[in-house]
Amino acid sequence: MSPSRHRKLAAIVIGLALAGIPAALVHLWLSSYVEQQVAADLDVAAKRVIGLAETRLGAAVEALDDLMSRGVHSCAQTDLGLMNDTLFSVTPVKEVSVLGADGATTCTNLGIPLGERQVISQPIASAYPGVVIEVLQLGDRTEHVVRLRNMNGLGGAGLAVLVPADLFLPRTSSDGGPVLVRARIDAVDGTLIGERGAEHSDGASDDERVVTTLRSDRFGITVTISTPRGRLLASHSDLVMIGTVGTGSAAALILALAAFGPWRPRGSPVADLERAIENNEFVAYYQPIVDLTTARVVSAEVLIRWRKPDGTMVPPVQFIPLAESTGLIVEVTRALMRRVCAEVGAAIGSRPDFSIGFNLAARHFNDEAVVADVAKIFGASPIALSQVLLEVTERQPLEDLAMARRVIGALQALGVRVGIDDLGTGHSGLSYMLKLGVDFIKIDKLFVDAIDTERYSTTIIETLVELGRNMYMEIIAEGVETFEQMAHLRARSIRKAQGYAFAPPLPGPSFLRLLEAADPVHPGEKALPASRAA
Ligand code: C2E
Ligand code: CA
Ligand code: CA
Repeated sequence: MSPSRHRKLAAIVIGLALAGIPAALVHLWLSSYVEQQVAADLDVAAKRVIGLAETRLGAAVEALDDLMSRGVHSCAQTDLGLMNDTLFSVTPVKEVSVLGADGATTCTNLGIPLGERQVISQPIASAYPGVVIEVLQLGDRTEHVVRLRNMNGLGGAGLAVLVPADLFLPRTSSDGGPVLVRARIDAVDGTLIGERGAEHSDGASDDERVVTTLRSDRFGITVTISTPRGRLLASHSDLVMIGTVGTGSAAALILALAAFGPWRPRGSPVADLERAIENNEFVAYYQPIVDLTTARVVSAEVLIRWRKPDGTMVPPVQFIPLAESTGLIVEVTRALMRRVCAEVGAAIGSRPDFSIGFNLAARHFNDEAVVADVAKIFGASPIALSQVLLEVTERQPLEDLAMARRVIGALQALGVRVGIDDLGTGHSGLSYMLKLGVDFIKIDKLFVDAIDTERYSTTIIETLVELGRNMYMEIIAEGVETFEQMAHLRARSIRKAQGYAFAPPLPGPSFLRLLEAADPVHPGEKALPASRAA
């Protein structure tokens, strides 16, 4: 018999045994039962987070060893070239730097301004000879990065690699279940490396939380996973309520019900999300994308927001991870596409040169359902399929690369263009992602920020431009905030850009006004969308 059958049977037997026992005792037992279950779940989550961090840091150590064994020790072009290769092949590494004997940074391959880096932890020895870990703050960024360095390089030079803390923390709040947890990674000296979780502001003090802490033997870091005690009791409120006011036999009934089938507590985040889909609470914001050579708005990216019934606007980071881990993202994306067609379909359809982009999740590439969805939704709207752009983020690994290629091919056969979002920041390594045969790539803000300095001629962005050009992929730069960045992008022949320098994501009515002002359509010259006109 499977362990879960065992557990269900045990729950029924216990439930029956509880019949007739005083309610207060039942309540006590249920509370500790729930707490034990959750503690076990937290333990699993902590192991998962430690495992992820060790994998990432382990890959970074290997990269460091590899560079040192190849004799990389200076800021010469050949060494910078080898450092760039590492960025392309070893995913978690986002920058390689050469350090002087005093530990100060001499140069980096990426060009993040040197003055902006500050070491905020003690140096912490790792299980790897010579390799020390530190936590760094870069400029005014709130998120921290981990630096692994080895000072035993050629000619007294040290070598270091940076790994963003963001890559250590899973995007899902737990392993898909409805209990939301907070995950936090610290260096053993207590410096915060990174933190993720839906309820940073849940108000629960530390002693109101159920907490599990694990320590990595290899890297001198600890992982703390916690969830507010109040929430877990509330999420099992049916059980607790029955335990408090009901009789033992009612508790037996509830336990027996709980033992069968998936049981989702009312008021859980997943139930909230399901309700939001039903009530059509997701709204679209539109961020313009500008052609730098003509200064015209040529396209827009749709960015989702959740407008709750009380009017609060919830940003995507607070619900997209849960939508992804539960699979609800597929339904959420459909609803968003329909909404966009209804809201701006006519305006976009009458401007056949204008495109509109949507974000897809890794899950969309597990089967071909998205192909039929896209064909159906846009087939019934004035927006032509040739106007649709779909972005797949590099931040989540694609489970089945062959299937992903098939889905991308089928979407392209419809006339849709597919691109990679957040290129260079994710899990897969550039070369791997570029095998997908996409039409465009979006360069992450991280790299756009790095081009503010013209310190080194071989920057990642130039390598990307060259790659894009060789593979006939269009390049869009993201997160462009300053005039200087715009000028640099133009100088490197990057044509398209998106960012606060041009416009933030706009609500539908503002976006429509912008479209009309920038590119008025006069009744007489109303064009048909490309695919219809053919
Ligand atoms: P993304 O696809 O990389 O979207 C760009 C994000 O950068 C947006 O945040 C946008 O508001 C922000 N941004 C744009 N220009 C600038 C700039 O100049 N400076 C800075 N600092 N930020 C800028 P937003 O709207 O909060 O979206 C966050 C992420 O949520 C998106 O990142 C995307 O990964 C995800 N997301 C948004 N909408 C959807 C959706 O419909 N489906 C899915 N699967 N994910 C979505
Ligand atoms: Ca995007
Ligand atoms: Ca992006």
